[in-house]
Amino acid sequence: MNTPDVLVIGAGITGVTAALALAEAGISVEIIDRYGPAAMASGWTLAGVRQSGRDPAELPLAQAAVAVWRELDRRLEADTGYRQTGNLRLARTGAEVDTIRALVADQRAAGLSLDLLSDLADVRAIVPGLSDVVRAASWCASDGQADPVATVNAYLDMARKRGARASMGENVQELVVEGGRISRVVTDRRGLSPGAVILAAGTQVNALLKPLGWTIPLRRPVVTVLRSAPCEPVLSPVLGVANADMAARQEASGQLRVTSGAQDGDGPLIEREGRPVIRPVAQRVMETVATVSAVLPAFARVEIDSIWAGALDLTPDGLPVIDRLPGLDNLVVAAGFSGHGFGIGPVTGPLAADLALDHVPALPIEPFGIGRFAIDIAPAPLTMHG
Ligand SMILES: Cc1cc2nc3c(=O)[nH]c(=O)nc-3n(C[C@H](O)[C@H](O)[C@H](O)COP(=O)(O)OP(=O)(O)OC[C@H]3O[C@@H](n4cnc5c(N)ncnc54)[C@H](O)[C@@H]3O)c2cc1C
Repeated sequence: MNTPDVLVIGAGITGVTAALALAEAGISVEIIDRYGPAAMASGWTLAGVRQSGRDPAELPLAQAAVAVWRELDRRLEADTGYRQTGNLRLARTGAEVDTIRALVADQRAAGLSLDLLSDLADVRAIVPGLSDVVRAASWCASDGQADPVATVNAYLDMARKRGARASMGENVQELVVEGGRISRVVTDRRGLSPGAVILAAGTQVNALLKPLGWTIPLRRPVVTVLRSAPCEPVLSPVLGVANADMAARQEASGQLRVTSGAQDGDGPLIEREGRPVIRPVAQRVMETVATVSAVLPAFARVEIDSIWAGALDLTPDGLPVIDRLPGLDNLVVAAGFSGHGFGIGPVTGPLAADLALDHVPALPIEPFGIGRFAIDIAPAPLTMHG
């Protein structure tokens, strides 16, 4: 098949959910990834599935995504590790208490059910092992977590079952424009002429957009991630903090997976055994251990199984781009998820698929237009994690 109706570039959560939506609609679809499924952010991620702390523009997507997550294992005939264990966002200082209080009021007004836990005893009723630096928290019981690699693979497997073709280890090098359309896609192996293209290339999106005269103004800060060996159950929900300088969850295996905040610096991407790698920095690792252990002292005693770093595709307003590229009818961009694109993945790929098929998107996507970057936007605070 050299001419799929739709070609999806990138097999992260965004690309695989788009591919399945298209395959289920009976569209011939091919998905290409330079490295393989979940090779970048969708593998590096913490993988919290949260609605709390979302920008109002993203909240409808996050709420719709939770409805999809609840049915996902059955639909994909696989174990995605999704568990609706809740999200606790902690306040450690007076200023953070104010932040959490405002967050709860705003999000309730926007229609999300979440509570303010204003003393430590209430927070410890959910996570007994928290230290006494914690002063308050928001609690969203309908948030959750999943296994990111299992989820991406489950989507990809089902897309294949539904007829999608997956070409892994193939690098898209150029999108060729003719007559206001992408007429040809050139990879390191061949040329293709799909009817439409969905570009879901995460942090790498601008490499293919720039030659077309567009760039998404992305910063690519790095997040340090540590994963422990399996240990005693200490953490049921996903933990975040008001200023987003750490997050944590305990996987079904018992392994604690903890992340730093976004750390400035564009960590160089290298390749190791055919996979993209950003090397973690020792100072950042030590800071992450200290920050996490200060709220969850049990973390200081665990055995560390692995450490890695992951880059974010952070836009100026912290919102993604889900849009057709102006002037190019058959190119849809879905990128810039700014540190919180995993949880909403089950709806963002299908929204990109709607655009590729010229359907009215199933959810409001006006805030995610690429044209908004033509004007100056004040940088948004980072709200990733969980
Ligand atoms: C450390 C960390 C913690 C996070 N925590 C959370 C969280 O708790 N909750 C949450 O919702 N989100 C979280 N995020 C964000 C979330 O993981 C990402 O927003 C999401 O995974 C992005 O998915 P994607 O498919 O858009 O991009 P990616 O997963 O990066 O996928 C892009 C794919 O495109 C491929 N590609 C790129 N260029 C080419 C090319 N030229 N040819 C072929 N293939 C190409 C890459 O190989 C890659 O596989 C976190 C991110 C990180 C890094």
